[in-house]
This record gives sequence, C-alpha cells and structure tokens, in this order.
Amino acid sequence: MIESNEQAPQLADMPGDWQRALAVVAHPDDLEYGCAAAIAGWTDAGKEVTYVLATRGEAGIDSLDPATCGPLREREQRASAGVVGVSTVEFLDHRDGVIEYGLGLRRDIAAAVRRHRPELVITLNHRDTWGPAVGGAWNTPDHVAVGRATLDAAGDAGNRWIFPELLERGLEPWDGVRWVAVAGSTTPTHAVDATPGLERSVHSLLAHRAYIEALTDEDPEEYVRTFLAGNNQRFAARYGGRPAVAFEVFPR
Ligand SMILES: [Zn+2]
Repeated sequence: MIESNEQAPQLADMPGDWQRALAVVAHPDDLEYGCAAAIAGWTDAGKEVTYVLATRGEAGIDSLDPATCGPLREREQRASAGVVGVSTVEFLDHRDGVIEYGLGLRRDIAAAVRRHRPELVITLNHRDTWGPAVGGAWNTPDHVAVGRATLDAAGDAGNRWIFPELLERGLEPWDGVRWVAVAGSTTPTHAVDATPGLERSVHSLLAHRAYIEALTDEDPEEYVRTFLAGNNQRFAARYGGRPAVAFEVFPR
C-alpha cells in the first residue's frame, strides 16, 4: 500500500484537557528525535511532563565503553529535558540493546505510572518498522519492547491485583491514564503544531552532543535542523499545512 497524504484523513488536535504527562521510552534521544517540540509547547502551557527511560543508552556509541557512555548519555538526557521544561528524568536500569518485553518491564513502567499519576502517557513506535515513509526501515527491539510494555502498563497501573508487590512499596493503583500517545507511529491519528516548540526542540536534540558527533560527520546543528524540519513536514499536509508532531493516540 502506498501512503498518500492527500487521501489520508486530517490529523485531529491532540487532547489538551490534561495536566500531567509521563513519557516512557527506551533510550536517551528517543524523545528528542521528533517529539520534543510538542513537549516544549505543553510545558509552556503549564503542564507537567516527566521522562522515564528504560536504559541510559550505554550501548549507543561504538567508540565508548558502556561504563563511560552510560553516565555521559544520562547527563546529556537531563540537559536535553531541561531545554523543553522537563525537570524529572528517571532511569529504569534495563540494559541497552537487550531490553526484554515481559513482566519485569511492565512492572517497572506500571510503577512509574503509579508514582507520577499521568493522564497522558507518551511512548515511541512499538511496531516492527518505521513505515513506508522511510522505506520500511526496521525498528529496534528495544523500542518495540518498551512501546508495547508502556501500552500494557498504562492498564496494569490501575489494577491492584496485577503487581501486588507494588502495593507493598506504597504504590497505590492509578487508573487515571486516559490516552497513550505513540510518537513516530506509522499510522498517526493526532498532531500538535510544532512551530512554538521548534527552536527548543533543535537545542534539546543538540544536547545529545556526544551521540550526534559519533553518529555523523555533518555539522551537528545542521544535521539536527535538517532532520527535525523533515520530520515536522512529514505529516504537515494532513494538519492544515502546519509543521506537526504526530501521534497515534490509543484512548483508554
Ligand atoms: Zn532509541
């Protein structure tokens, strides 16, 4: 099937009647590759957004040993979050590259949902590929595992009997998640205007300096601006021509 922006329906505006969001992703930089402009807009509007990362991205730079890389990428992630108004960044200490989908991951994410009590949960593409727009490029097993576990854990968090050990840790059920929004989805349904947060999204991704310098020989700022501009234009035709951060929203 060929994706056609002209035939595909317009993207709806993301729900705005919420106060707390929790973004759960696998690696440092997962939110900055496309999502941070939306987050900047939300924190501007006085909403609280918290980041939870399954790993520190310690296997992300070929030339750096994980023991050196993990703390470096953690620092870059905290700086990156600060640029878009996010001050709480937590790490679940799963191992980069070999995150396993399973009860342990669901439990850790459910615990985070109970701690932060969000109405909106954000995660990254949980499907096998990134879709036809990028030639069907294969997704990573970490993204698939964390995305799926996050969709599942939004429900687990509300059921006191699923992970009773969380109760013993004082984490009462939270059944208040109303939507899980998947960024980078191949089949988005909603969008946020990227314009107000665009400049900060550039600096948020640029904060992953060591990672980007290892990734490309291009000038880091040029690379980041080109990538994010292309990303924001991908669904503009389905959002009134506006640069868009697109999400697939699963209501609960
Ligand atoms: Zn990633």
